[in-house]
Amino acid sequence: QPDPTIRPEARPEDADRALRPQVLEEFIGQAEARANLRIFIESAKQREEAMDHVLFHGPPGLGKTTLAQIMARELGVNFRMTSGPVLAKAGDLAAILTNLEARDVLFIDEIHRLNPAVEEVLYPALEDFELDLVIGEGPAARTVRIELQPFTLVGATTRMGLLTTPLRDRFGIPTRLQFYSIEELNEIVTRGARLLNVPSEPDGAMEIAKRARGTPRIAGRLLRRVVDFALVEGSGVITQQLADHALTRLGVDHLGLDGADRRYLRLVAENYGGGPVGIETMSAALSESRDSLEEVIEPYLLQQGLIQRTPRGRMLAQKAWTHLGIAPPKSPDQ
Ligand code: ADP
Repeated sequence: QPDPTIRPEARPEDADRALRPQVLEEFIGQAEARANLRIFIESAKQREEAMDHVLFHGPPGLGKTTLAQIMARELGVNFRMTSGPVLAKAGDLAAILTNLEARDVLFIDEIHRLNPAVEEVLYPALEDFELDLVIGEGPAARTVRIELQPFTLVGATTRMGLLTTPLRDRFGIPTRLQFYSIEELNEIVTRGARLLNVPSEPDGAMEIAKRARGTPRIAGRLLRRVVDFALVEGSGVITQQLADHALTRLGVDHLGLDGADRRYLRLVAENYGGGPVGIETMSAALSESRDSLEEVIEPYLLQQGLIQRTPRGRMLAQKAWTHLGIAPPKSPDQ
């Protein structure tokens, strides 16, 4: 039996199942979202009804999947998971929907990438728990209506702007996830080290938290790499010095920026005098898809005040010049 965690399709964090919070109480951060969800979950349980549909949006690795799983557990129902790109045909979605039991949670990741034909089928399912399926082709085609069990859809997206309005409007509970504060990440790292049975000094955990790009998934990854260094090159304890050494070796700088982030900033600084430069130009120059720039790289650079988005393109902020150690070009009127 091969180890499932080394299968290529396994997401690396599948190995981190041990670190995934299981109940709302264990989930650190996102205080507002958590407080609201607690009320909606409790109310659905008291009414003995399916909870309203929830849309989580925000950058990758902030806990959308984790919260959806927690919701199912707290509601005491089954959790089913799929993703927008996987649902190629209306029939694929129909097969999943007709197999749901009453009040189950269905999680659709990357819901902005649903095929429009599949999305059409989803609307009546969300609104009236009904499916309209077309059977046969041509003049013999007819529509059959199938009643579904009431269920809760939890959609997740990194790109709220790409969701169609009718789909967005069908979520009663839209919830934006924010980047985590360093204090919250510190708690997550400290808890993770405890679960991995690795001793950590407060400064050591804090060093990882500061460099985790506001993102629990990254905090978990960095923690594991620092543990590797601690075991092989250190005394087995996560100290500040060891974390700093390990993270620097991994190319993660003091703001938590990695190679891709710095390449982005350098390009704007060195080739475009600090901008503005258009996203398509950036995408071509960096050989990165526009989506990955907009969904993965830019949100944190924006949140850190390193770049600005203007109608004419991206511009470096003063903090980025300082961080890169490059003097900004003098503007002509200075
Ligand atoms: P998303 O679905 O938003 O991409 P995930 O829910 O898959 O993010 O979370 C990524 C990783 O981060 C998971 O391994 C999870 O254990 C961890 N994680 C996310 N949020 C938290 C949190 N609040 N506390 C502790 N760990 C978290």
